[in-house]
Amino acid sequence: MKRGIVLGIIVVLGCLPLVVSGFQGPSPAALAATKIEKVKDNLYVISGSGVADQNAFSGGNTAVFVTDSGVVVVDTKLPGWGPTLLERIKTVTNKPVTTIINTHTHGDHTGSNEFFGTTVDSVVHENTKANMARMDEFKGDKAKFLPKRTYKDKLTIGKGKDEIDLYYFGPGHTGGDSFVVFPAVRTMHVGDMFAWKALPYIDTGNGGSAVAQASTLAKAAASVKDVDTIIPGHIPVTTWNDFKEYADFSQDFVTFARNQMKAGKTIDQAASEYKVPVRFKGYVVTVNTQFASAQTNLKAAYDELKR
Ligand SMILES: [Zn+2]
Repeated sequence: MKRGIVLGIIVVLGCLPLVVSGFQGPSPAALAATKIEKVKDNLYVISGSGVADQNAFSGGNTAVFVTDSGVVVVDTKLPGWGPTLLERIKTVTNKPVTTIINTHTHGDHTGSNEFFGTTVDSVVHENTKANMARMDEFKGDKAKFLPKRTYKDKLTIGKGKDEIDLYYFGPGHTGGDSFVVFPAVRTMHVGDMFAWKALPYIDTGNGGSAVAQASTLAKAAASVKDVDTIIPGHIPVTTWNDFKEYADFSQDFVTFARNQMKAGKTIDQAASEYKVPVRFKGYVVTVNTQFASAQTNLKAAYDELKR
């Protein structure tokens, strides 16, 4: 076996394990699963896909916001998805893509930034730019594809019906997760701060925090006003109440970790006792044990609580 040829390019992602063998562009299943759907006036989502079918995994949910001066894209899926994104966008507007926002650093949310070139405006939280600068996709010659603009706590782009507000409320999934609000249409893209109805993947290598994840969500839920619709990182568009419920679910887990640690339980003992409380309907412990599990998340929480 010629291992190099067989394996081709191996891409290891932040949010789901994905091994791409000799990447030749999106599979038919992935293309079919990646639809553009209207969320509100001038706001669309191009679905991410595929926890059930990894061959159909294109990356996170992409928001498409059509403003007077051009199209703003939030999150660009995996590498190789640029042409599909553009094709889907062209079914709803003739305007050019002028701005890219990435909710965070992971390759299934930033992978096709390069496709949109260096002339588009691009904005991320300052910690995310630092994280992106360590990725092969943005090193050396490709540093020119790094985001042009960063912010620290809040940044407003555009005004009136075209306004977009970016908020940073602290670490969680990574150390640089943005909450992207479209006030005129009462909608917020929350990236992987709410990716699935399950324990979160805490990317400590990129500044994520298992303990702060809950307080960051609580801060977002308390600070952002007049939003009724949520674009999560991976699951379908949902409601503000679902987002608040996810903040509660996250807080419940941190409280569980703290209590177990206080009671002198080992991580193994605590993990074996963890169950999703019945009030969180439709929730599971994890959608992918490689990235999150009671064990993994308790270890991350214990490590932080011990400090
Ligand atoms: Zn992620």
